[in-house]
Parts: sequence; structure tokens; C-alpha cells
Amino acid sequence: MRILVSNDDGVFSPGLHALADAVAGFATEVIVVAPEADRSGASNSLTLDRPLYVRPSVRPHTHFVNGTPTDCVHVAVTGFLDWRPDLVVSGINKGQNLAEDTLYSGTVAAAMEGFLLGIPAIAFSLSAHNFSRLDTATHVVQRVISGVVHAPPSKHYLLNVNIPSVPLGELQGYEVTRLGRRHEAQPVIRTHSPRGEPMYWVGPPGEIRDATPGTDFHAIAQNRVSITPLRVDLGSASEMDSLAQWLQRLP
Ligand code: MN
Repeated sequence: MRILVSNDDGVFSPGLHALADAVAGFATEVIVVAPEADRSGASNSLTLDRPLYVRPSVRPHTHFVNGTPTDCVHVAVTGFLDWRPDLVVSGINKGQNLAEDTLYSGTVAAAMEGFLLGIPAIAFSLSAHNFSRLDTATHVVQRVISGVVHAPPSKHYLLNVNIPSVPLGELQGYEVTRLGRRHEAQPVIRTHSPRGEPMYWVGPPGEIRDATPGTDFHAIAQNRVSITPLRVDLGSASEMDSLAQWLQRLP
């Protein structure tokens, strides 16, 4: 098993190093290729307006890229590595990636890029905005990786794993979940620059709308590890019939 590790919090994140260390025992080769800076919220963006560089970090087997999480995995798999990873893992993110967060998440995007390139992939996120429970997360990563090494869940999978930030003894098990739903995002926060020019900070995500049993929100609230199988198809097959009828009525 050869594993590519990336994240969106950047090459200096303790979560990244914890993930690389956690998977090392399962792999003949582990390489880390991560953004040089925090690119949380970068989603699936690619850098097209300048060249990308892959430079070695002070940590062994670790490189950083002047780009996004998607750039990192794309460049690593299609150009930088002279071998093909068997698995792409991303994280461990500082903060959960639940429901619509998955659309904006660079952590999920790095995994998704591997998946789009034909490689099974797993994104790991810790539910708190700190790493005080990185030990719990490391334990979960090792159990999940041990599971996929022993018997993959399917031939080609993209998993979004969220880990409650609690002591290991308080973990209430694992649950396969669907994505919950949020209400629409909070508005941007308008303020002024020191020169009086209006400026805007993107506000918090929307309040939780669907956290019913079976959702990722619900599992995390119950201190269970949430494992959501993701797919990439944004198309809405259920809308096709009504849209076709609408098309026939076009003036
Ligand atoms: Mn992040």
C-alpha cells in the first residue's frame, strides 16, 4: 500500500503530521504533499494563472506546493510522483466537515481529487477548532485505515470521516451516515478598512436544518465517528422529467 497524504490547513498543521504518522505503519511508502499555507475553504479549485512548485519541507517525505489542496493531489499524482498511490488521505482537518461544508472543504476536495483520478480516498476531520483530541483522531484513522487495508469497502470509494473531539473513552462507536442539511449561510460581515473603505468577511455557515438520526450532524452530536460515502455527480436526475416538460413549453 502506497499512500499520498494531503490537507487544506497547510504543511505546518499538526493534523497533517498526525495523519502521516498514523498511516505510516500500513504503507510501504507514504508521501505528504500539502499546501504551503492554510487553504481551508478552497474547495476543488485549481491554480491556472501561475506555475506550481513542489518543494521539500524540513520534515522527511514531506513537500509543499504554492497552491490549493486540489493542486497538491493533482500535481502529485499526475506529474510529481513516479509511482501511483493506492490511497489518498486528507486531513486531519481542524474543524468538522459536515453537510454542505463538504462543498467548500479543501480537505474533502483533496480526497475528491484522488477519487477523480481513480484512486480510493478518505477525508478526515476533527470536530473541534483545535487539536486537543488529536490522540482520539489518530486512533480512529488507524482503525479505518486498518479496515480498508484488510478489506476495502468497495472497489472505488470516497469517504468523509468526521471524528468527535472527545477523549477516546467517550467515543460512542462508528456510524455510516448521510449528509445533513444547513440553512443558508449567514451574511457577510461588513466593516471598514483603516482607510475607510468597506470590506467584508465571509460569515459563519448556516444553522443546522437537518440533524435527524442517520445524518453526519446527529452522529457527531452523539459522539460517534461519522463515515459518509460521497459521490461527485452534481446532476439531479430527479429533475430531468419536469425540466424536459418545461423545455417543450418554451415559446
Ligand atoms: Mn481546514
